[in-house]
Amino acid sequence: MTLFEQALQDVYDDFFKNMIQNPLHTDFFSGKDINSIKEKQIRGITYLHLLFMKKDEKKLKEKLLYLGKLHYRLGIEFALFLETVNRLEILIIKELLKKKIDDIEKQYFESSSFFEQIRHYTALGYLKEYVKEEKKLIREFIEANLQKRTFTVKKIIEKHLQWEEKILDFISDENGKLDVETDFNKCDVGRWFKGINRKNLNRATLQKLEKLHIEIHHIAESIISFKKDGKYDLLVNEYHYFIKANLLFLSSLITFVFTERIKELQKDSLTGALSRSVLEDIYSKIMELSILSGQPFGIAFVDIDNFKKVNDKFGHTVGDTVLRKVAQIMKKNIRKSDYLFRYGGEEFIILTPATGKEDFFKLLERIRKEIQSTKVKGVSVTVSVGGAVIRDKKYIPLEHLIEEADRLMYRAKKEGKNRVIVEEIKI
Ligand code: GH3
Ligand code: MG
Ligand code: MG
Repeated sequence: MTLFEQALQDVYDDFFKNMIQNPLHTDFFSGKDINSIKEKQIRGITYLHLLFMKKDEKKLKEKLLYLGKLHYRLGIEFALFLETVNRLEILIIKELLKKKIDDIEKQYFESSSFFEQIRHYTALGYLKEYVKEEKKLIREFIEANLQKRTFTVKKIIEKHLQWEEKILDFISDENGKLDVETDFNKCDVGRWFKGINRKNLNRATLQKLEKLHIEIHHIAESIISFKKDGKYDLLVNEYHYFIKANLLFLSSLITFVFTERIKELQKDSLTGALSRSVLEDIYSKIMELSILSGQPFGIAFVDIDNFKKVNDKFGHTVGDTVLRKVAQIMKKNIRKSDYLFRYGGEEFIILTPATGKEDFFKLLERIRKEIQSTKVKGVSVTVSVGGAVIRDKKYIPLEHLIEEADRLMYRAKKEGKNRVIVEEIKI
């Protein structure tokens, strides 16, 4: 028996008793054969030490990586594991000192480098498993939170998650190379923050988000430097904060986008028109403005003619392409201050502030004609349009005007489709 093995045998009873008394370990030991676990642990450590003395680094590393993974899967905090390892090391060194041997320095040195290897590779194993789990969570997060509605922010979130993944890959791979932007001003999210139009946004929330983003970069920097120095035990600890901060950042960002309803982000993904969910908000601003300024505004209901036939004859994919083109033509013809919404499947709403009956009719006619004369994949469609112009001193609810525009659109259908009917609405 080597000196190390002797010392291990001598201290293990006390060490083990202490371990099972720790309330944090209660769950793990409950209902198990304590003595056989103890024997197994001693055998395991003896075997690891043997590998260490034989300088079989490959095998030692493999075993330790596994041990780290196992602790992650058992749900044991790495800090707790580390504390246990450290205590065992101290006990063994004390025991060696008691033995008053000649080459105590050599023994001491060997023992501490053995424990150093344990800390290093179990931390790496733990981290690898943790990262694997985290990457799975990232995928689930994307699926659960990023529906089509958050189209633009989805890109940013995906970019951020890619960044996070690259850092995870780097720290969990011993030979990993770092190829991410660490400067918080230059990464995709940082650039997004810089380019964002802050005019209508909640500044305080935005500032909080930016602070959180900077903090994530700081944590990333320390993680990266721990990794570079091979300090995996410190790295595991910092990694916890990294994961937490990232999660907080992403969920805050999503909440922010939803509550702020950034117009740019509320686009229908097929046509690029605004989604119906922001119609009410935008309408009310235009209505209020019209009352204040005394200027009329227009609201039009646009419905593609015989669109079902297009789908039936040419297929849904062609139908989608036609739909996209129709939206494109409308967007091209309206002013910057006008709005295009996708109201339903092949139905759109156009809102034009400060527009009278004649101008509104001209605009809608221009759109109708251009759609009629445009072919997409050999297919051309027409639209029927009902436009209502409002010049009123009191607030009219949106539903009421949609009904009016819809009624006019129906009249256009009945009169033969492919036409525009505009009327000034008097309430
Ligand atoms: P009408 O001239 O009376 O408006 O006839 P229509 O066929 O256009 O009217 P209807 O409302 O009966 O049918 C609308 C069709 O639009 C039904 C559906 O197949 C199609 N549609 C709705 N949304 C989409 C979409 O996103 N993509 C495609 N390809 N087709 C759609
Ligand atoms: Mg329809
Ligand atoms: Mg239709």
